[in-house]
Amino acid sequence: MIFDTHIHLNDEKLIENLDQEISEAREVGVSKFLCVGFDIESSKKAVQIADKYDCVFAAVGIIPTEHEQYDANTINEIRKIALSSKKVKAIGEIGLDYYWEKDDETKTIQKEMFLKQIDLANELNLPISIHARDSLSDILEILKKHPVKQAGIMHCYSGSTELAKEFVKLGYKIAFGGVLTFKNSKKTKEVFKDIGLENAVFETDAPYLSPEPNRGKINLPKYIADTVKFAANTYSFDLNELEKITFENSLNILHVEKNEK
Ligand SMILES: [Zn+2]
Repeated sequence: MIFDTHIHLNDEKLIENLDQEISEAREVGVSKFLCVGFDIESSKKAVQIADKYDCVFAAVGIIPTEHEQYDANTINEIRKIALSSKKVKAIGEIGLDYYWEKDDETKTIQKEMFLKQIDLANELNLPISIHARDSLSDILEILKKHPVKQAGIMHCYSGSTELAKEFVKLGYKIAFGGVLTFKNSKKTKEVFKDIGLENAVFETDAPYLSPEPNRGKINLPKYIADTVKFAANTYSFDLNELEKITFENSLNILHVEKNEK
């Protein structure tokens, strides 16, 4: 059993064909998904999809790169969406993105968005799903100063093992997706090897970051099985054991019951 802890079934590339995509993923062992919002509209869609499919749960929030959409009412809207369904299990994806945004003014807005959504997660007692690009040290500093009670998941983690251990100390799980299978992903492979299975979860980030052998194509929900198999083969884990441990980790961090619908 596999839990895809970060997927955008709400993305226009996937949303038209959900019945088929979800059933194909279920055939290869994916039994739960966290459909993650990145702005107000996609968060609403994530909840609609979660309410329609038993196996789908939702995260709602606004991604740092969408800072132009952020205004005085944004947090209220996210709160309303979060409270509209018991299938909302996290606030996300939220964080800091300095890859696209390098000026100080934008960084300040991103930090405010991140902090306000951390407050919201604590108010609703939910974990968070973190988006970080070139910003891990600032994120760590913020999480130390403003702890999230239920911690969360470091989505698409791209930092060092040393830094990953700092997030683990704060209660976070490290998510591994298609990048793990890429030839040039030395750092990600090291983190996976060193972090300990008890701290790892899997994700697709579909429709982005498709794993080998479909790198460069649209990532489909079923391709997560390729990432999990790659991890089992490369690090000599028993596939069932690997799935079982990371599935349990996902249930625990997202507070989802095994039979919850
Ligand atoms: Zn994402």
